Amino acid sequence: MPSLSSRTDIFTDSVIRRMTRISDLYGAINLSQGFPDFAPPKAITDRLAEIAEAGPHQYAITFGAQNFREALAQKHEHFSGMKVDPDKEVVVTCGSTEAMMASMMSVVNPGDKVIVFSPFYENYGADSILSGAEPVYVPLIPPAFDFDPNAIEEGFKRGAKAIVICNPSNPCGKVFTREELITIGELAIKYDAWVITDEVYEHILYAPNKHVYMATLPGMRERTITCNSLSKTYSITGWRLGYTIAPYEVTERIKKVHDFLTVGASAPMMEAATVGLQFGDDYYRDLQLHYTHMKEVFTSGLSDIGVPFTDPQGAYYVLMDISEFGYKNDYEFCVDLARKVGVAAVPGSSFFKEPVNNYVRLHFAKQDETLLEALDRLADMRTKMLQ
Ligand code: GLN
Repeated sequence: MPSLSSRTDIFTDSVIRRMTRISDLYGAINLSQGFPDFAPPKAITDRLAEIAEAGPHQYAITFGAQNFREALAQKHEHFSGMKVDPDKEVVVTCGSTEAMMASMMSVVNPGDKVIVFSPFYENYGADSILSGAEPVYVPLIPPAFDFDPNAIEEGFKRGAKAIVICNPSNPCGKVFTREELITIGELAIKYDAWVITDEVYEHILYAPNKHVYMATLPGMRERTITCNSLSKTYSITGWRLGYTIAPYEVTERIKKVHDFLTVGASAPMMEAATVGLQFGDDYYRDLQLHYTHMKEVFTSGLSDIGVPFTDPQGAYYVLMDISEFGYKNDYEFCVDLARKVGVAAVPGSSFFKEPVNNYVRLHFAKQDETLLEALDRLADMRTKMLQ
């Protein structure tokens, strides 16, 4: 066989997505890959039904349908206070996955370094490698997931051209404070680097935490590329609607990358989701209340079971500490958990650069009955994992 690319040699498939397949194999309750099992807002699905008849069914403009970009810009301005030009500063992508990939490819050259916090959402490692960059990891130190600004500065001194920030953070649930973001921003300015943010959980926060948009901080707009998506905010992860908001010159580059990578996001889905972008404030308030409720149900259940876990400030994951089970390999723990207990989780090692193997990630974006059934199964895990 002719040889395969060395670029794709050095990372695995996504363990998050692999765990969904393992979950399906054992008929487990899937708390691994983060997606809801409740319906998206009815106004959006009703609109989709209309569109099935009325269209559009053909390509939209490559960087996103005009009305969708305009609605996106307005929604973003409403929450961030930042005026966005829908023609010059927005690219609609196939999920924030493509948004992040296209952003990296637009600002990073092969051989460049990119700072990534650890633990990190696993795509960032592969994104850096695919764009030819070398990730430089800066630890977020448990239990509070604080960081040492000197470690970031060290990364910039070593020549990092960009830093990736997931805020609110997957998998650790950290919500970066304004002061922390200013500290990072000042370093990015000092070393003239790009800041690429992943803000897909911007509306999934637990009181009293507040989301601060990096691009709105002093001096940051011109060096920040914001990646986001509609997946989590409107419970439509399968629709694959993401976007970037970035300065004009960067947006022009992202448009080119995006055009040749995927041509465009799905036209009917953009049209249907436009309704969601026009929802009033009560929608976002209810979303937060709903997630606060799901977090309560799940974390109080875990507390009753008596297993240690991280309590998130935002996003919808907990890292459960599995030290007591004595597994050397957290992936094996997750396969056993799916097979013997009937609950699927993601091994923590897929998020940490450091040799951490005592955490597994569980998500709680699920209906009460799903969460209660999962907790019921987890209540027996000490016995079942020994069998
Ligand atoms: N963000 C979700 C997770 O971390 C799912 C991401 C994906 O599979 N695209 O599980």
